[in-house]
Amino acid sequence: MDFKLTPEQIDIKKAAREFAENEFSPELMEECDREEGYPMEVVKKARDLGFSTIKIPEEYGGMGLTLFEEALITEEFYRVSPGIGNACLSSTFGTELLILFGNEEQKEKYLRWITEKHGISAMATTEPEAGSDVANVKMKIVKEGDEWVINGVKTFITNGTVCDFVLVLGRTYDGEKRHHGLTFAIIESKMKGFKATKIKNKLGLRASDTAEIVLKDVRVGDENILGEPGKGFYYLMEFFNHTRPRVAAQAVGIAQGAFELTLNYVKERKQFGKPIAAFQHTQFKIAEMATRIQAARLLTYQAAWQCSIGERKPELSSMAKWFAGETAVYVADWAVQLHGGYGYVGDYAVERFYRDAKITELYEGTKEIQKLVIARTMLRDVLKKYGD
Ligand SMILES: Cc1cc2nc3c(=O)[nH]c(=O)nc-3n(C[C@H](O)[C@H](O)[C@H](O)COP(=O)(O)OP(=O)(O)OC[C@H]3O[C@@H](n4cnc5c(N)ncnc54)[C@H](O)[C@@H]3O)c2cc1C
Repeated sequence: MDFKLTPEQIDIKKAAREFAENEFSPELMEECDREEGYPMEVVKKARDLGFSTIKIPEEYGGMGLTLFEEALITEEFYRVSPGIGNACLSSTFGTELLILFGNEEQKEKYLRWITEKHGISAMATTEPEAGSDVANVKMKIVKEGDEWVINGVKTFITNGTVCDFVLVLGRTYDGEKRHHGLTFAIIESKMKGFKATKIKNKLGLRASDTAEIVLKDVRVGDENILGEPGKGFYYLMEFFNHTRPRVAAQAVGIAQGAFELTLNYVKERKQFGKPIAAFQHTQFKIAEMATRIQAARLLTYQAAWQCSIGERKPELSSMAKWFAGETAVYVADWAVQLHGGYGYVGDYAVERFYRDAKITELYEGTKEIQKLVIARTMLRDVLKKYGD
């Protein structure tokens, strides 16, 4: 076992830190948060430097690296700004499905759209009535003659109003076993029948675009169906296995960013004639925050590494996502607390970290769903007999 990063990984981490510190200016962070604006120029710059195409194979113009390197970049971007970091790095959200299950023509067309034309992708499973219970999706993807006709509504879709294409999950076959009837289709935003409406007033991650998407009689050919019809649910589970460690890395970055601001603050802020860092309670909190961040980081790195070497362990991805998400929320909460009243107002960035942290416990499966995934692995035999 070797805990050292390779020289290449050190360079990537350093480049990501420099980019985030130079490009995510305080003015841009403040403006995007206040106005809920999408920072398109920075998204494009990050793309040009390969940060958001790190996992796309070289043969399609990407960097051809792994989830581990992606986790390192994610941590650095979110350490400075979770909102802008999300806009930049989630601009290729969903391409994992193409890499894992797309055919040659789909990869050639859609991955190159990303790597050569600043294309933005999205991945849509959530519906108003189907969040955690994703197998309950109502969107229809049904065959009519040579075409597939798609109808339905998706909500909370990252990049919904800025994407060029979106991979949507819908129902193709009805039947007793609802998980077996789902299919992914690739929909381009310029297709007739596509409509996206931005969702505003989010608690955090306000630089990231979130939208409702309505598809009305959208028609595509076989070439826009991902893999085998009816296998969509299983593709999605594999997708999550590869993307949850990235959310864990987002959470580690958020925790680290909030922690560093707090470390500086407790050394400077004086009460009762000494820096608040001199109080034992503050020291204990700093120790607890630092330890939890390091534990979350190690779990995240292991989960990312496990995927990178191609060994399947979904429970590890879920452990990392749940634990790191809870760490981000814990650390951001104590960051505000240790800033006192100043942490509650917008002048110090901890207030934004506090609002941004929460999402890591919600999207790509809530923390409760992560615990179900973990428990199902641990208790497989019993749950086969008595579980749902
Ligand atoms: C900013 C943002 C971006 C997002 N981006 C995307 C995206 O790009 N694509 C996409 O498809 N979706 C996206 N989502 C949706 C997100 O994945 C869902 O919100 C999430 O999966 C939870 O679904 P829900 O909101 O319907 O909550 P619900 O499923 O209704 O859950 C409500 C509560 O019930 C709990 N719960 C539900 N079922 C169980 C159970 N069996 N056991 C115990 N507790 C349970 C949940 O943990 C939660 O606490 C995004 C959401 C947000 C807020």
